[in-house]
Amino acid sequence: MPAPVKPPIALRDLPRDRRGYIVPAEATWNGDVPDLGRNRPETNFCLAATGSCVVCGLQNVDELVWRIFNEDDLQNAERELSVQGAFSERMYGGHKSCMLYSALVCPYWATENARLTKDSQWAPGAKRGKQCALIGVTNVDILFDSSGRLELAETMFLYTEPGVVIRFSEPETELLPIYEQAIRDEKARSLNKRVYFGPDHGGERRLTRLVSRAVAALKEDSSARLPDIRFRFEEVVASKARFRTPWI
Ligand SMILES: [Zn+2]
Repeated sequence: MPAPVKPPIALRDLPRDRRGYIVPAEATWNGDVPDLGRNRPETNFCLAATGSCVVCGLQNVDELVWRIFNEDDLQNAERELSVQGAFSERMYGGHKSCMLYSALVCPYWATENARLTKDSQWAPGAKRGKQCALIGVTNVDILFDSSGRLELAETMFLYTEPGVVIRFSEPETELLPIYEQAIRDEKARSLNKRVYFGPDHGGERRLTRLVSRAVAALKEDSSARLPDIRFRFEEVVASKARFRTPWI
């Protein structure tokens, strides 16, 4: 069972899985069964295209975009930040309150020795580690292969203009007060523009439609903006073209 933390209003209407966890917008659906451990690139692409939070699926308007990092990923992000002032990630981000809620209820973030499962999609078996953090940034670019092809499976994100870092080891004591303050501070969100692909929200058909729309909008604009290619990080980011999110 998830820890007894009251979810943000934006999450209260969302479906829950068998264990009682709220199913985030980035989760994969197999028919009407959600898989919280799998993220499809198509889903992530649509959330980024619309600037929608990977947890609640509502647009992130004039707020920082946040990600949570385990110890190893935090070290990598900070290394990239120190060299280039930006870091790369496979996934799009979300609202401060939604990300803090995830860090408070997801068992992976609860203890230092927690590990991802061996069949985890990203970094199987990765240990959480002692020092974790949430990082909020002002801007996120999506990165494509510099050939201009849209390979959704290969997309990466470049988080630029970092604003705030919240470090934590013990979520319950360190993050709960910050979460409660974030809930008090956040603006009201319109709940009727949710980008979400559960069976009650349009499912696979909606996902396919939105991918087509996002790709079309990107191609239409790309002659003006895609050639802005920067060769930045030595590994994943080299030879990628950048495009600012959201674009539809
Ligand atoms: Zn959210």
